[in-house]
Amino acid sequence: MKKTILAANWKMYLDGDASIDFVKKINSNEESFFKSEVILFPSHTCINQVQKNLGTENIKIGMQDCDINTEGAYTGAVSLHSLSDIDFCIVGHSERRLLYNESDEVVKDKLETVTNNNVSAILCIGETKEQKNDGNTFKVIDRQLSILPKDAINGLTIAYEPVWSIGSGELPSNEYIEDVLSYVKNKLKSLYSDEIVEKTNLLYGGSVDKDSINRLLDVKLIDGFLIGSASADFESFKAIAEKLN
Ligand code: PEP
Repeated sequence: MKKTILAANWKMYLDGDASIDFVKKINSNEESFFKSEVILFPSHTCINQVQKNLGTENIKIGMQDCDINTEGAYTGAVSLHSLSDIDFCIVGHSERRLLYNESDEVVKDKLETVTNNNVSAILCIGETKEQKNDGNTFKVIDRQLSILPKDAINGLTIAYEPVWSIGSGELPSNEYIEDVLSYVKNKLKSLYSDEIVEKTNLLYGGSVDKDSINRLLDVKLIDGFLIGSASADFESFKAIAEKLN
């Protein structure tokens, strides 16, 4: 049976010691995560320590973001090549789009860098509250997906994260999520073969925690979850994983 993806976006929540402490707890509670495919996204500076301390190969590691360039004179930027054994990279998270002014063009270039370097991309899409209230959700989703290349991307995951739900405790209804994910699926079908569409995982992200997960699990099109704050607290992350058992 396909496992449910639990992608843990730790943002800037955990420092080095806290990240190591977290993975040590995963090591000693491995059975709680058997039903999930866990991907941890630590801060860049903590990735090496997390990899060293992780006692299982079942858990994958990713970068929360990367630079478009992989080498050269780019002060302060982090190259995909500077970290080894990275399985995933998040591209186009709304915090990057909104706080760091990343345009669709930048997101497109990053997606290209990630896929050209054999790393699996998690492309984040989602509308703001204002866009939702103006009835523009599908227009926004369509624009954000228009950066997808004509050539199929292997290992692509798309995370639908309504910006208004991130960190707010406010959740869309299951029907709303279902409608958006169907739209995404149809868009993918217009671009790629059935086989590729089948392999493209769809995640939901936004205020997922041990309580909201109960009803979100009823959304058939969801292959997994991108989780922020609730993923940075070991007990709450474990409680979410155990709901899948
Ligand atoms: C996120 O930022 O990707 C996210 C889903 O955050 P939270 O779970 O805290 O809403």
